[in-house]
Amino acid sequence: MNRMILGKTGIEITRFGFGGIPIQRVEEKQAVETVRHAVAKGVDFIDTSRAYTTSERRIGLALKKTNQRVVLASKSRARTSDAVQKDLATSLKELQKDYIDIYQCHFVQNDDDYQQVISPGGALEGLIQAKKSGLIGHIGITSHNLHLMDRILDDGHFETIMVCFSFLEPKARETIIPKAIENNVGVIAMKSFSGGIIDHPELAIKYALSYPDIAIIPGVESKDLFDQNWNVFLGTHELSDKEKQEIEKIIKQYDKNFCRRCDYCQPCSEDIPIQLILGLRWALKRFGKGFAEEEWPRKSIAKARSCSECGECLDRCPYQLPVPDLIKENIQWLDDNLTKP
Ligand code: SF4
Ligand code: SF4
Repeated sequence: MNRMILGKTGIEITRFGFGGIPIQRVEEKQAVETVRHAVAKGVDFIDTSRAYTTSERRIGLALKKTNQRVVLASKSRARTSDAVQKDLATSLKELQKDYIDIYQCHFVQNDDDYQQVISPGGALEGLIQAKKSGLIGHIGITSHNLHLMDRILDDGHFETIMVCFSFLEPKARETIIPKAIENNVGVIAMKSFSGGIIDHPELAIKYALSYPDIAIIPGVESKDLFDQNWNVFLGTHELSDKEKQEIEKIIKQYDKNFCRRCDYCQPCSEDIPIQLILGLRWALKRFGKGFAEEEWPRKSIAKARSCSECGECLDRCPYQLPVPDLIKENIQWLDDNLTKP
């Protein structure tokens, strides 16, 4: 029950993998020790990305001193063949490997984005070449957009998919996860804690594991936090009635203010990446305060200040979130907590 085959890749892994986001926000020594500890305990699948700053490098350092076989997955947000191959070369260097098991097109969010990936000269072409050259074993894709994921599964170009899946974001279990499994596409479920919002490891992990044959990748930055999650994984995954009630309570609490990152509210007339702004507090918690100073968030925050309150996004959000109000609230929070001395 605790091991699975990742779809048509044929790779067998423990269902509880390690996500490489949180190790960016601590000192290198702690990050490396945390990864080593996880591997020593039995983790044999690690997911990271070119986009996670120091993560690949730290994982590379951690794995240098272990003989244990660990399946590695990384990803790139590049959309062209040349750019993705360049990113892959950097990933290999940072991870200190000459081969990566799974390389994924990262955060493909809409049809245009996807079209670019699969067109001649696109990232997919570059990854197919890399696979032929023996630099990677399999090609995957990640997206928060379930409509798009449906099309991706129909097209059949990718061997693994990564989707959001938690009790605050349960939609993937209705169609996408079963469809992927039916098509023998490996499913990696991200955001079991909904990006840090769910503060109950036991509930989050048990819920995420409640769907069989999918891998989860909870990331942590310390050995203690890892042990806490790992012990849940080793125990029974059945939710008690009390835990189910607790989950219902949390769902109610976040129903009208939690952005599910689906991007259905786009396009915004002011080009505001709405999901990024609505998830700002949690992103800062996960990536550290420096996140707000990086180019993409910085530009996005500047755009968010010019929300015209046109209301177009309101009709498009299937969760009826009060988007312009939430944007204002998040920017105000940012000003109060970061930009003011
Ligand atoms: S209300 Fe603001 S966020 Fe929504 S579409 Fe208009 S400008 Fe964009
Ligand atoms: S605001 Fe609504 S539509 Fe837009 S990404 Fe969030 S949940 Fe999806």
